Amino acid sequence: MQRAFFMNYFQIDDLKKKIVCAVLIFVGALLLGIGVAIVVERAQTERGITEQTSSQQDASNGQPSKIQQDEQVKKVALTFDDGPNPDYTGVLLDGLKERGVKVTFFVLGSEVELYPELVRRASEEGHLIGVHAYRHVNLRQLSDAQAIEQVDRTNGAIYRATGQYASYIRPPYGCWKEDLDYEVQMVEVLWDIDPRDWATTSSNLVVQRVLNEVEENSIILLHDASKSSVQAAFTIIDTLQNQGYTFVTVEELLLE
Ligand SMILES: [Zn+2]
Repeated sequence: MQRAFFMNYFQIDDLKKKIVCAVLIFVGALLLGIGVAIVVERAQTERGITEQTSSQQDASNGQPSKIQQDEQVKKVALTFDDGPNPDYTGVLLDGLKERGVKVTFFVLGSEVELYPELVRRASEEGHLIGVHAYRHVNLRQLSDAQAIEQVDRTNGAIYRATGQYASYIRPPYGCWKEDLDYEVQMVEVLWDIDPRDWATTSSNLVVQRVLNEVEENSIILLHDASKSSVQAAFTIIDTLQNQGYTFVTVEELLLE
């Protein structure tokens, strides 16, 4: 009886030991789990802080942001009147492509009808096409109806060549009938610098005249109608790009 009691007691005590053991293992596992969770969370927090800090460093590592870059860009626009020209427009387009430069062409409708492929190419290569007139006439000396016809015929030729109507006009001699702005739904664009390239065969002279006057947002008037003008354009581009200028279309300049 006593023996049986001790056996029972021993057995109960053994059971208690097992329970205590199991509880200890459970608590141990629980504490280990909590410990692992804390370590992982701390590591993630630290990594988050590191990433945040490094991204802050990216933003402030001396590189200007996109907005700052836009503010710092000095823009200038080259414009070419009287084309397209079968001898010089193609050469000009080749050089512009090489230099990654976009310009604006104010074309004559009569020439667009003769050489539509040049205007199509210019448009496809990202240049802006605007209206000069159908023929090289002073629009102020025409009746309103005749002036409108000069614009509409040119715009029709531009549309047939490029699939798009022009939105900008630079009338020959800068002579426009402002009261027709609404009628033709076009924006008149004149110029800031006229180096009179058509009156000289010296590209150096044209280059010097432009470089003497150029400043940020200048619109430069040239003609893709002679070898010296095209050469002058390339030298102007190479020189001003080295001075930090970016060449844009007049639309990009005016939309600022
Ligand atoms: Zn002209």
